[in-house]
Amino acid sequence: MKTLKYLFLLAVILFAGKANAQELRTEVFPLLNLDYPGLEKVKALHEEGKDADAAKALLTYYRHRTNVHHPDITDLSKVKISKQEQKWADDALEHTFFVHKGYQPSFNYGKDINWQYWPVKDNELRWQLHRHKWFTPMGKAYRVSGDEKYAKEWVYQYMDWIKKNPLVKVKKDEYELVSDGEIKGAAENVRFAWRPLEVSNRLQDQTGQFLYFVDSPNFTPEFLTEFLVNYHKHAVHILSNYSDQGNHLLFEAQRMLYAGAFFPEFKDAMSWRKSGIDILNREIDVQVYDDGGQFELDPHYHLAAINIFYKAIQVADVNGFKNEFPQHYLDMVEKMIMIYMNLCFPDYTNPCFSDAKITTKNEVIKDFKKWSKVYPKNPYIKYFATDGKKGELPPYLSKAFKTSGFFIFRNAWTDPATVMVVKAGPKAFWHCQPDNGTFELWMNGKNLFPDSGSYVYAGDDEVMKWRNWFRQTMVHNTLTLDNKNLETTNSKTLLWDGESKTQILVTENESYKDLKHRRSIFFVDNKFFVIVDEAIGSAKGNVDVHFQLCEGKVNLDLKNNALTSAFEGNSNVTLQCFGSKEMTMKPEEGWRSTAYRKKVERTAVAFNVNKDSDEAVRYITVIYPVNDGKAPKISAEFKNKKFDENALELNVKIDKQKYNLNYLLNR
Ligand code: MG
Repeated sequence: MKTLKYLFLLAVILFAGKANAQELRTEVFPLLNLDYPGLEKVKALHEEGKDADAAKALLTYYRHRTNVHHPDITDLSKVKISKQEQKWADDALEHTFFVHKGYQPSFNYGKDINWQYWPVKDNELRWQLHRHKWFTPMGKAYRVSGDEKYAKEWVYQYMDWIKKNPLVKVKKDEYELVSDGEIKGAAENVRFAWRPLEVSNRLQDQTGQFLYFVDSPNFTPEFLTEFLVNYHKHAVHILSNYSDQGNHLLFEAQRMLYAGAFFPEFKDAMSWRKSGIDILNREIDVQVYDDGGQFELDPHYHLAAINIFYKAIQVADVNGFKNEFPQHYLDMVEKMIMIYMNLCFPDYTNPCFSDAKITTKNEVIKDFKKWSKVYPKNPYIKYFATDGKKGELPPYLSKAFKTSGFFIFRNAWTDPATVMVVKAGPKAFWHCQPDNGTFELWMNGKNLFPDSGSYVYAGDDEVMKWRNWFRQTMVHNTLTLDNKNLETTNSKTLLWDGESKTQILVTENESYKDLKHRRSIFFVDNKFFVIVDEAIGSAKGNVDVHFQLCEGKVNLDLKNNALTSAFEGNSNVTLQCFGSKEMTMKPEEGWRSTAYRKKVERTAVAFNVNKDSDEAVRYITVIYPVNDGKAPKISAEFKNKKFDENALELNVKIDKQKYNLNYLLNR
């Protein structure tokens, strides 16, 4: 009995030891074009029935291949690894996987890796596990140290993943239905592991991992066949499961181009490449407006989209087929870069509208450097690529991108500068928030009115509660009815003048049923702002115009409907609102997300009027810089006492200086 038990245990151990062993996958040969130059020996051996030797020859071919180029890895003898990447590589040896920046320290997935472990029910955490972000750092660690432990472990994890994440069929649209964190059943895991976006991520990153590890003795001929069969399955999966639209589709198409370019030995490689190029050529006119704005109206996804389109050009360029992209495509990408340049503040950060994340100057300069290589004749891109050392600044300051609805008031490109970016665009998609009319305002080295940001994307009720808080209209610098989210988000530009002494934007949004919001912004003397908000229509209820400042001390003067910041440094501001006698100023809950799942408290206020008649509710808000600690005395009044569809006139007084602000719409 005892002997039987030992035998059983021995069998278990042997089986477990073999669990991630690689097998010669002969089905790889029909997937390859064996007439591809360099595969002559592979073909001959395969035809002789010597598949094990054919696999060996195939590995030798890949170890010596020189005609295929990787855009990001140009010299394997000069691989560098950052401290952070080294840590991710070392943690991964213990199965502590770097999955998501928002969940640190990283979670441990067990000695026997549990690919379904889901410690916090945020979908991103589970999806992004399957992007294997630690594989590339492992590859770099291997190249830098030559230590086989990284290669051995990578091969182990690669095989473990294949074994535990089989592809079972689910309907294409079901990949995107994992929104409540509660999906159960047999198909649950496949929706995470095989969501096309994650698959495309692996498709791209495994090209680099392949290069890092291919020379390792742990990268055996058998493993090569496993790798290629798995890789091929990935590309085929994307081909029949492309996302219908949006940035996911762009990512997938660009990565199919990578697959086609990097593994031209597959019979299907040309069709993968063509599929990627066709989609990108089509989508650049669908997802990018004529002024260069990406249609999600989210500066971060705009940046991501530039880099998708750019990466496609780059991989085509290094492999000699850039001419497969027409000039129109190159022109559109250049326009996208120009709009991004205009959206940025002097410290190279972008507004955090919609789901945008804060960028850092270093990251953005790196991007401009890359772009400058494709657009060497553009002096403005060169200026930003070199942080002002070469090239030149655009020959204008303020700028409107009317189709996308981004309006930039600017008095200088470098500090001390005043820059207001207004978002008042068309109905947008996915990552866009219902925030028409909102703005961010930079003054003298500081973002004084940053957007609330996004905090998290999607998950269970608790995660969604926070996402919805940051998305809501009332936490933006705009107007609401009963603090509800905008029902319509489709702003119309009625007037833009970005050149006169007093610059003007007039924009209108049919925000709610029977309540239209007209916002008129005056940038006076290149110095301060006067914002007129008019809530027009028969709707009744609480009308509020909201303002959110950056974190730090702000003194409220509720009696005079005013506030003055007392931030450290020399960038401060006073804001005062003038409305009807009934108007009251109310402090509100204020948060700003600085990164995924990171937030800071900040001052937020609303100016409230109970609208009980058909008459328009009207506000004048003056935002004036305060550099010496003393706020000026401000007054403001409407000259036209009632809302006028075609005109506006008001008087504003700052200390002793009087300003008459007005416009007449020619329609
Ligand atoms: Mg927002």
